[in-house]
Amino acid sequence: MTILGSTGSIGVSTLDVISRHADRFEVFALTANTGVAALAEQCRRFCPHYAVMADSNSALQLQKILAEELPQIQVLAGTEGLQRVASDERCDMVMAAIVGAAGLQPALAAARAGKRILLANKEALVIGGPLFMDAVREHAAELLPIDSEHNAIFQCMPQTPEARQSVQQILLTASGGPFRQTPLADMAAITPEQACAHPNWDMGRKISVDSATMMNKGLEVIEASWLFDCKVDDIQIVVHPQSIVHSMVSYVDGSVLAQMGNPDMRTPIAYAMAWPERMHAGVAALNLFEVAQLQFEAPDRQRFPAIRLAYEAAAAGGVAPALLNAANEIAVAAFLERRLGFTDIAVVIEQVLNHLQPPPAGSIDELMSVDRQARALAAQFVEKMTNA
Ligand code: NAD
Ligand code: MG
Repeated sequence: MTILGSTGSIGVSTLDVISRHADRFEVFALTANTGVAALAEQCRRFCPHYAVMADSNSALQLQKILAEELPQIQVLAGTEGLQRVASDERCDMVMAAIVGAAGLQPALAAARAGKRILLANKEALVIGGPLFMDAVREHAAELLPIDSEHNAIFQCMPQTPEARQSVQQILLTASGGPFRQTPLADMAAITPEQACAHPNWDMGRKISVDSATMMNKGLEVIEASWLFDCKVDDIQIVVHPQSIVHSMVSYVDGSVLAQMGNPDMRTPIAYAMAWPERMHAGVAALNLFEVAQLQFEAPDRQRFPAIRLAYEAAAAGGVAPALLNAANEIAVAAFLERRLGFTDIAVVIEQVLNHLQPPPAGSIDELMSVDRQARALAAQFVEKMTNA
């Protein structure tokens, strides 16, 4: 198995599951961006064939460390290195757990090589949905969702296309994040520390901020529309603060199937690794008496404008979701660096969506060029707002 983004939250959970099943799974490659020490430590524990650092300076540093201790591990660098370990014929499964647009090309390489892809990197589908799904079909790759909601939907969906006709709606659950009940007047002053303190899930910083703005749910609606080949209007966001029901599928006969469990990403990771079987994930059994209550409510679209922006981008189609994603990545990074206010994240995204109407992109190169344009424009808007 290749783990793209092995030093991140999903990557670490994946290695935890692998270490519980050393008889079944072997690590082929581990990858990270700049975390040299963390990747070196993972190499010592898992002895992969390859270690890849997206950043070339970091790759040189890792090379130096490993040359002495573990000379059998080959160190590669950059997007080429990531694509190579995602498509190598000796690797069967690829965990796509890089955060953001940087994950698209390596995930696409895995699809084109016909791998089993465990997809956590939702941004890849938001940006390159048609391209990615075409590659999966054309090269008979196996695409298994890791995002907990999509993994839940996958578990609740019928497996044959005929039976899919009886599905009425997808009910995509959302915790509502840390600011579901914060007075609206206090939202502008929210700090990165507050935004990253998610009530139920322990995740990377970018997705934690996305959960706090609910852009995460917007991205997930678009992700679900590609994974399950449905219109975004057939997906209903359901706020469920306990994060026990991970999503649901409703059927024409009135049945609603839900997948439940403790909020621990090792469940969807183990499910996708073992599919169609199941295996231990190290997750505690769900204690319903302790949970006691499950609440459901409609999302507050006024409080969370990111939801509207995501539905609008999905409706506009073409590269609009790629613009949405790029602007969001820039705005979230600026917020984490304290250069942009929390409520200004959505303002920057809306400005980018309104100002940029590039032609439809077909190829990966065109898409990446649109991504760069949207980032540049978003950075300008951030700059303007910082100086205002
Ligand atoms: P994280 O920030 O903890 O980890 C990101 C990983 O990607 C790290 O290994 C990092 O080194 C690598 N990386 C970052 N930038 C890179 C770049 N430019 N090139 C190559 N590698 C790079 O993030 P995470 O929380 O593990 O999330 C990873 C992905 O999974 C995201 O797309 C996120 O939306 C999705 N996801 C995460 C969770 C969760 O519980 N953490 C749940 C659902 C979906
Ligand atoms: Mg999710």
